[in-house]
Amino acid sequence: MIRYYLLIPLLLIALVFGISFGHLRQSHHDYHQRAVLTVHNLGAIVTEATAGSLHTIDITLQAAADQVQFNIQHENADNANLNKQLYFLERRVPGLILLTYSDVHGNVKSGENITINISNTAYFKRLQEDANIGMVISEPIRDLSTNEWVLICARRYTLQDGKFGGVVYSSLKIGQMISQLLGNRLQLKNNDILLIFNAELTTISNYFNGRESLESIGKKISWGDLDNSSNSISTSNVQITHHFFDQNERFTYVNQIPNLPLYVVLGLTSEEIFSPWWKEVIFISFIDLILAAAITYVFVSHYRSRIKKLNDHEQYQMDLQYRSMHDPLTKLPNRQLLLDRLNQTIQSAIRENYKVAVFLINLDKFKFINDNLGHEYGDQALREIALRLNEIIREPDIVARLDGDEFVAVCKIVPIDNSNLIAQRILECLQAPLLLNNSQIVLDGSVGISLSPEDGDAAEVLLRRATMAMLRAKASEKNNKAQYYLHEMQSAAEDRMLLEKQLRNAISNNELVLYYQPQVDLRSGTLTGFEALIRWNSPVYGLLPPGRFIPIAEETDLIKAIGCWVLDTACKQIHDWHELGYEWLTVAINMSAAEFCSGETVTYIEDVIKRYRIPPSCLEVELTESLSLNDPVASIETMHRLKNLGVRLAIDDFGVGYSNLGYLKLFPADCLKIDQVFTRGLCSNQEDRAIVNTVIQLANSLSMVALAEGAETESEARQLCELGADRVQGYWIARPVPPEEVIPMLQKSRMFDPKLLMPTSERLKVLVVDDSATMREFIVEGLSDVLSVDFLCAEDASEAMSIILSNQLFAIIADNYLPGQSGVELLAQARKIAPSVLRVLITGTPNTQLLREAINFAGVEHFLSKPVDLDHLLDILKKAMVREVTAFERK
Ligand code: C2E
Ligand code: MG
Ligand code: MG
Repeated sequence: MIRYYLLIPLLLIALVFGISFGHLRQSHHDYHQRAVLTVHNLGAIVTEATAGSLHTIDITLQAAADQVQFNIQHENADNANLNKQLYFLERRVPGLILLTYSDVHGNVKSGENITINISNTAYFKRLQEDANIGMVISEPIRDLSTNEWVLICARRYTLQDGKFGGVVYSSLKIGQMISQLLGNRLQLKNNDILLIFNAELTTISNYFNGRESLESIGKKISWGDLDNSSNSISTSNVQITHHFFDQNERFTYVNQIPNLPLYVVLGLTSEEIFSPWWKEVIFISFIDLILAAAITYVFVSHYRSRIKKLNDHEQYQMDLQYRSMHDPLTKLPNRQLLLDRLNQTIQSAIRENYKVAVFLINLDKFKFINDNLGHEYGDQALREIALRLNEIIREPDIVARLDGDEFVAVCKIVPIDNSNLIAQRILECLQAPLLLNNSQIVLDGSVGISLSPEDGDAAEVLLRRATMAMLRAKASEKNNKAQYYLHEMQSAAEDRMLLEKQLRNAISNNELVLYYQPQVDLRSGTLTGFEALIRWNSPVYGLLPPGRFIPIAEETDLIKAIGCWVLDTACKQIHDWHELGYEWLTVAINMSAAEFCSGETVTYIEDVIKRYRIPPSCLEVELTESLSLNDPVASIETMHRLKNLGVRLAIDDFGVGYSNLGYLKLFPADCLKIDQVFTRGLCSNQEDRAIVNTVIQLANSLSMVALAEGAETESEARQLCELGADRVQGYWIARPVPPEEVIPMLQKSRMFDPKLLMPTSERLKVLVVDDSATMREFIVEGLSDVLSVDFLCAEDASEAMSIILSNQLFAIIADNYLPGQSGVELLAQARKIAPSVLRVLITGTPNTQLLREAINFAGVEHFLSKPVDLDHLLDILKKAMVREVTAFERK
């Protein structure tokens, strides 16, 4: 394109020069024509003028001849008078000198005594011989007296008898004649020539260089000089010649003077003729050069600006291309460029037989930085990580940023498999602290590694597999931060895809069900409500817990549909139970962040509540605390909108997310649900106990209900009770059950006996007396897990007595066969000291005598035979305990 563009000025310049050339050519032709015409006209003038002058001379000579003839015819005529008349005639013609005459013998009287004879001259002879001849002109001769070149013009005169009488003649100064002849009419310039020669080709006159060239007069010229025309010229008599005296080119006119043997040659130099044309040439060339320079200048500057524009455009294009291929924040290649270069690397790896490792790097706490410190610190962290990765991964290996907090490194693995080492270095660079907002933060991250060729030979595949490996590393509980891709991961991914496909049809196929887990008041043991927990009754996979499919639903758009279904089903269930008379009943539903953040949630909940005509306070929405991290302001606003509806709010799984306690106080929540991991550690881990304690205090201070999840044992429940938790939910009360199993629970007055959870100081004490340690352990260990009482042990009656005296006992279980004193005796004594104590006697083979004594003296209520039936004993104790509690409550 640019090359063609350059042709334009060249064509324009060529056009300018072409026009000029055409013009100059035409003008040269015009000059030529004009020169031919001029030379021809001038030549004609000169010829005519010369002819005229010579004619005058001829007439003068004729007059002189007549005069001489007259004198001779009248013999006495006065000679002096004749000479006088001749003199007058001579004076009439410029250039004529010495007009005189000769006699028939050629004698000419010159002065007094001198007679010269001209009979030998050519002109005399010709005039003598030819009676009809007119004026004869001699060859140029030198005038002896003046040494000037002259022509002798002569005419014959006749005598009376008509015979030849002699000649009249006169010298003619050629130069003078010619110059007079030329006068002002012909301005010859240097190098122009005016030449006259006679029939013998003798030069008679030659004007050259502006003066008469005397040296050439009398010299002969050849016709060749005149014929050597270099050009044929249309106008006759004009030729272009080179050959006069010099090599100058001339337009030459050659013509004979009419009736005279004389020829006129007029030569005007081409140089002179064309000198104005040359000036024109110079002028036009000058103009052309200026034009060419102007055109060149215009085009060059235009070209330059165009080139600049093109360069700018090219630069712009390159910028655009760069931007489309690079991440603007870190300047690292983006996904597109990465795929491109990864494919190239794989191809050369196949050709050159080496391995390629793809490291997919995911940062751990990036979201935390973004949300808590702000995006500018997030950006700073990403830039810093990019720099660090660039330092450890050098060209031609590749570092790229995918999106968010994901980076990719592609490394050539030669000669040994050093991918482990590289992964280690990558992790080190992620784990090195970052200085953000004046504080040091450790990001950390996980790396997934796929290798080519074994894990695939296409960029997309390797990336996908490295991502799977990264996800596995992230989920790893063993703190395995770098994970190679394993083939089983692919099948896991395929399984997941299949599951997702099935899940899409689960709602329409009625495969989803809600289970309900009771939530109970810890002080009274009464039921307060249920948490609705979803299950998927899949024909392919069986009954699946939410952990198997809710995360998948959350990653896809399915969670919204599932959320709507849960809300709808739970509200319908609340309505049904309320209809059955349990109007106090509340149900909690779980809501994912994705559902909660979609703008329609509040409206939808409002619609459903209205549709089933349930009091809004009977619905509780459980949100995880991490929800607030995404967009705290929007989350809090939505919570308030829900609260305004009258719906209750609970913060689920509290303590496991990155709680921002600053936000927590802004949450208008009613309930704080302590995550089950802390409940689980209550009995074994002091820290968990401390956390649970703090969370309960926190809930109290924020006027929220503290509900502990995941209580599986009575001791956990007791601990919770001791720490002041309000409610409990867990397997200890009941597992999540289908709706039909809820009704029996609703019918119970309480879910557990609150006495069970009384503090140790208030707990019932049971004394076990047996000399066999095995028997004592059997009873204590067998019952302590299922019965909330404190067991005291004694091996004989005296030890037992001291315990009875120092403790308020609820029951005494005594073996009859004790060393020293029998069991019956011991129980009889105990009856006196503590009459209300429950007395249980263990006997080997009971006989009637013993039974009577035991009942009558010792007031024994229950008998157990060996081996002891623990269930029976448990039943006895439980019944007695219920009695005791009721009495206690009555009191
Ligand atoms: P969550 O909301 O914290 O629910 C409590 C989970 O703990 C339930 O598991 C329940 O079965 C279990 N659990 C209760 N008591 C005990 C106990 O004593 N010991 C043990 N080991 N586990 C106990 P589930 O039903 O598998 O639900 C798991 C999680 O799935 C729920 O945790 C909740 O986050 C989510 N989820 C359940 N249903 C739904 C739903 O309808 N929608 C959404 N978005 N998420 C749901
Ligand atoms: Mg929950
Ligand atoms: Mg929970």
